[in-house]
Amino acid sequence: MKRRYWILLALIVVLGVPYYWLLVDNRPGGAPERPIPLTELRRLAETVPGPKPERVAVQTVGWRRVPGALFVAGGGLKRNLLTIQAGLLSGPWGDIVIDSGFGAQDAEEFGLEAYRPDSQARVDAALRRARLIVFTHEHLDHMGGLTRLPDFARVAPRALVTPEQRGGNRWSDSLPWPKGARERLKPFRYSGMAAVAPGVVLIRTPGHTPGSQMVYARLADGREVLFAGDTATMERSWRQVRARSRLVGDLMVGEDRNAVFGWLKAVNRLHRQAPGMVIVAGHDEEALRFAKPPLGVAFEFPANGSSPARGGGSAKR
Ligand SMILES: [Zn+2]
Repeated sequence: MKRRYWILLALIVVLGVPYYWLLVDNRPGGAPERPIPLTELRRLAETVPGPKPERVAVQTVGWRRVPGALFVAGGGLKRNLLTIQAGLLSGPWGDIVIDSGFGAQDAEEFGLEAYRPDSQARVDAALRRARLIVFTHEHLDHMGGLTRLPDFARVAPRALVTPEQRGGNRWSDSLPWPKGARERLKPFRYSGMAAVAPGVVLIRTPGHTPGSQMVYARLADGREVLFAGDTATMERSWRQVRARSRLVGDLMVGEDRNAVFGWLKAVNRLHRQAPGMVIVAGHDEEALRFAKPPLGVAFEFPANGSSPARGGGSAKR
């Protein structure tokens, strides 16, 4: 009898401790909040002259379901839909594409349950007509779409990549760059925050990767959007300030967990200061699509070269 208890206890320790450590533990410890001052964001959003974006869209190109705890520490084993997606801000100034999906071969490598080439074609079309292309970070499921374009050389000059996104770490160096292509990309250096288009501001948020950044936009009608990238993989990440599990964050991605916590606290604060701000998490289309009240985000990019403008659109070919 006694021996049986010891075995049971040993089993709990052998299975339970790693389980807790790898999938549940969400201790932010003393990780200080990182600064993303809202007043400064709003001020910078006014500094580039021109008409601000009018519309926001998110295009999902594929998905798989994974246990929630992998990407939201302590998030339970119930499976969540993880979407691979790109973002689009459009208006008279021109289209701004945020992230680029990836190719069919990448989807296979990622073990996606579904991949939609027609949806990726919409993202590719958006990249081709974009006035500006930016990336939340240097991972294949965000930058792969650009690097896989057969006409990369023609589209790439409109991509604004940070030095870290272009190379120098294991992620950017392992992207499927066309031969000799990335040397032609001029890295965009900035510290803190930088306005890059009317209403649009980049925020340096290294942590998930060295080249991670968020993209803030103030629209013409005053609405605000923040593309948080994979610092917040899911909506719960920033709402509950939960980092990735140690299994994914520490062992697989090798992210700076303290920094991620710091930025998640900042996003959480931004949303409390500006409750109307739409926060686009890196892989959580479902949370946006079923938000109540609706967030005013479209879930499909236009199919061809023309933006769904009400007139005076941005289409440039
Ligand atoms: Zn990602």
